[in-house]
Amino acid sequence: MHQYIGPEGVLEKRSQYFYPCTSYFYRNPPQIVKGEMQYMYGHDGKRYTDFFAGVSVCASGHCNPDIAKRTAEQLKTLQHTCTLYLTQPNVDLAERLADVLPGELRRTFFVNSGSEANEGAMLLARLHTGRKGFIALEQGLHGRTYLTMSVTGLTMWRADPQLAQPGAEDVTFIPRPYEYGVDADVAARRSIDALKAVLAEKGDSIAAMIVEPIQGNGGIIVPPDWYFPEVKALLEQYGVLMIDDEIQTGFGRTGEMFAMSRWGVVPDIITMAKALGSGIPIAAFASTDKIAASFTRPSASTFGGNPVSSVTGLAVLDYIEAHGMVEHSAKLGEQLMSGLRELAERYREISDVRGAGLMVGAELCADDPARGAALIDEVLEEMKDRGFIIGKNGVDRNVLAFQPPLVITAQDVEEMLNALRSSLQIVMS
Ligand code: PMP
Repeated sequence: MHQYIGPEGVLEKRSQYFYPCTSYFYRNPPQIVKGEMQYMYGHDGKRYTDFFAGVSVCASGHCNPDIAKRTAEQLKTLQHTCTLYLTQPNVDLAERLADVLPGELRRTFFVNSGSEANEGAMLLARLHTGRKGFIALEQGLHGRTYLTMSVTGLTMWRADPQLAQPGAEDVTFIPRPYEYGVDADVAARRSIDALKAVLAEKGDSIAAMIVEPIQGNGGIIVPPDWYFPEVKALLEQYGVLMIDDEIQTGFGRTGEMFAMSRWGVVPDIITMAKALGSGIPIAAFASTDKIAASFTRPSASTFGGNPVSSVTGLAVLDYIEAHGMVEHSAKLGEQLMSGLRELAERYREISDVRGAGLMVGAELCADDPARGAALIDEVLEEMKDRGFIIGKNGVDRNVLAFQPPLVITAQDVEEMLNALRSSLQIVMS
């Protein structure tokens, strides 16, 4: 048993033994010692309703008893073995994913993190097309490894500024389908025009375009309905694959099993992580038989698809299905969004409320983002004191982010909105 050191002790050890790249939302970050579905408990026993779930980390709730029980049973039976032998949980999970994945996507390669899933998807796209280049959207986020960071447009998450230099990787960024103050259709049209220009110039050297269907860390950006169908049709004209990064949006978060499905678009490769393990590391990329057939040389992930995380994945999918979590997410998302819109009528600082399902953002002071970001820091502190954890994101960190575990209830949403009302009253006065 560890000797109890408390939040100050943890911060001190972090500063001594971790890399200095860590950042915090709070002046005094709470030390979380216990999780229970939509709730987390601090070292002092204080209960927090988790409206951020660590960006969809424990999407089916913290320590969800159904999922924890099956995971623990597997942990006691067989933790792992070399991929040279046969085990059943990973093939069951792959089969199960084939059922819920869109279109003909039915081949799955298991890995351990979102970055690794995108890295694998990009490798697969290169293997299949024999081309090297990538297109990505500005302000997107795709991971922490070198290749995935090089398609990450959000500069905040590019640890190596050299990657922003032209030529570091064969990546072309185009504007995302959103710009503050610009009509949604006009902004999306600009993005399409830029895509057309890149494809006309060098489409035959591009392996894939990687996109988040709804940008998460970029500030919860939902494009107009016509945008992605048009993107897909253009890519097809040039034999460029679409990699759909559903790492943040997948498994019900947006009120659909996968966000891209809301526009009827079937990508060529899809990547999944976060919610699939609801706290246990598991991730994957999936594609069609035809694309998968290009990946033949030996490759295996040591921990990818191990029996324990595969059983967790199966338990997560069972839970989502048995409890109608996808529909629940759509329904509560509406409640959350209409509550936030009411607040936006009262406070002109709330310039926009947007999102889908339980992936919702409220932008503060879009015309003065530095002020918005400063206000958000205060709102987060007030909310934490009232027992609610919410997040922030956006290019200028001026978007309040609400991404609770899908098990949240209508009452939790109501209570959170009440706390937000009181917090805004204090912060805006
Ligand atoms: N893609 C998206 C859309 C993400 O939100 C994230 C994580 N924030 C990643 C990729 C990287 O995932 P991981 O941290 O598991 O490597």
